[in-house]
Amino acid sequence: LKLLDQFDPRLREVSAKVEGPIKDLAEEVLAVLKENPQGIALAAPQVGVPLRFFVLRKAYAAKKQLSWAIVNPTWVPLSLAAKRPEGCLSLPGLQKIKFRHTAIKVTFEDLNGKVYTRTITDPLLAQIFQHEIEHLDGVLLTDT
Ligand SMILES: [Zn+2]
Repeated sequence: LKLLDQFDPRLREVSAKVEGPIKDLAEEVLAVLKENPQGIALAAPQVGVPLRFFVLRKAYAAKKQLSWAIVNPTWVPLSLAAKRPEGCLSLPGLQKIKFRHTAIKVTFEDLNGKVYTRTITDPLLAQIFQHEIEHLDGVLLTDT
């Protein structure tokens, strides 16, 4: 797997819900993230896999007591939005100021299909969930 070019139309697709095992695929997506040390997370559609999951660096996920593969994630806001600088591995060299909710409630599955609901009050982690879930809906940093 490779990072898609920023103009690849596959970045604009709405990805499908994960229904079966994706362990090997998630490891392959993680391998691409590891090649890009400036990134903390990578969504499957960024490497041409149209499924609703993203991966986190394992050390970062462990520190946050989260699964490194976040499957079928959804979120709702628990706070107002604040301005946060943001970049994207699919848009190299670009940084944009985004309004992101600094506290959110997330629901997701791990690679075994176990469902978690978590309150996230770490602004960076909340921002990562919002950014990566946008990728699952074909939305890029530059859209809003
Ligand atoms: Zn991105």
